[in-house]
Amino acid sequence: MIPRVVNSLRAGRPFKFDNGQSALKWTIGLGTVAVAAATATGFMYHNRTEELSQNKFIKYRVSYNKPIDQDHFFLELSPLKRQKTNIWTDFGANKLWSVEVKQPQIMVARSYTPLPLEHTGNDQLRVLSNNDFGEGKLFFYIKRYSNGEVARWLSGLPVDHIVEIRGPYADYVFPNLDEDDTVGCDRRFLMEEGDSWSCNAQYLHRPFDISMFTAGTGIVTALQLALKPNPFQGNIMLFHSCGNLLELGPLANFLIKLQLHGKLQLHLFESQKNTDLRSNIQQTLSMIPPPSVYDPEAPFENRDQFMPVLSLVCGSSGYISTVAGPMHSLEQGPVEGLLKQREWTDENVYKLN
Ligand SMILES: Cc1cc2nc3c(=O)[nH]c(=O)nc-3n(C[C@H](O)[C@H](O)[C@H](O)COP(=O)(O)OP(=O)(O)OC[C@H]3O[C@@H](n4cnc5c(N)ncnc54)[C@H](O)[C@@H]3O)c2cc1C
Repeated sequence: MIPRVVNSLRAGRPFKFDNGQSALKWTIGLGTVAVAAATATGFMYHNRTEELSQNKFIKYRVSYNKPIDQDHFFLELSPLKRQKTNIWTDFGANKLWSVEVKQPQIMVARSYTPLPLEHTGNDQLRVLSNNDFGEGKLFFYIKRYSNGEVARWLSGLPVDHIVEIRGPYADYVFPNLDEDDTVGCDRRFLMEEGDSWSCNAQYLHRPFDISMFTAGTGIVTALQLALKPNPFQGNIMLFHSCGNLLELGPLANFLIKLQLHGKLQLHLFESQKNTDLRSNIQQTLSMIPPPSVYDPEAPFENRDQFMPVLSLVCGSSGYISTVAGPMHSLEQGPVEGLLKQREWTDENVYKLN
């Protein structure tokens, strides 16, 4: 069973801006230990005023802003003051997390999910290595809505423009995961060309396999998890729906590498190629594995079989309804849709909208 507690860090913080999306939209499932860990980390961030903080907006400058197509762009923000904290290992090890960007003219803030990447010049992207956190740079993949307030504004900002951000906020905390669980995983296949790198991760405990269902920019959750410096302690099966894979730009290469090296099994649905989760429901259902039970005490075992213990669903309201039933305002709502048909329940599905 996946225990659920509303994230007090996110719910309890003062929120001055009408951000058009609830601070509680992505409520959290937390185990008791994870609550303590997140709270402790939260206090740490509060106390370091020079560091990225949940309490105060900190100035960053735009260090890269690149359109991918008319509707999507990359944005890299660099702190004005070098950060001391490796946010990826200190805060983000067992969480999905985001930061808020403030739009000063209309006084709203929106959440964005950093990816462990940095721009190295000439439109080249690099995955952050294990002890490298790019001195606090944050890299985002963002959709620009033609009538949207903040993403449209961000897409037009020139390099060196100053923006203010705060965070990090935990959007989902993985229960039962020991942050030091990974014994070995060679991530060089993500950083260098060549197919020879082995990435057979060894863990102390049984792998925590998960299924992820993402649509559009919801894929940032899967990419954050799959690319982060502390590798996720399990395998990921990703069902991704989008217009066309090209809208990911160079991020598509990372997906392909992860797939080639067995870190991610990708099922892609591109509407421009007339593939859709809903077009052949029986076929889609046959791809979705039913849930397995996770025993956190069980020792590591080498196994070929993918045995998911959690399904995360991230996308628009309509997409979430199809896959896992509608959310009811801030509430998760009962699990319905495709996942219910494959025996998934309220205990092992989490919706992020
Ligand atoms: C925790 C969290 C993390 C997020 N991470 C990212 C991220 O990494 N990248 C990213 O691009 N976005 C992300 N988002 C969404 C982001 O916060 C904004 O909601 C989004 O950028 C739209 O804001 P806006 O001000 O541009 O548009 P708004 O002014 O809020 O909306 C304008 C129009 O766009 C439509 N719209 C807005 N959002 C959506 C949506 N998700 N699906 C369909 N239609 C929509 C609205 O219906 C409206 O018609 C995240 C949201 C949350 C809660």
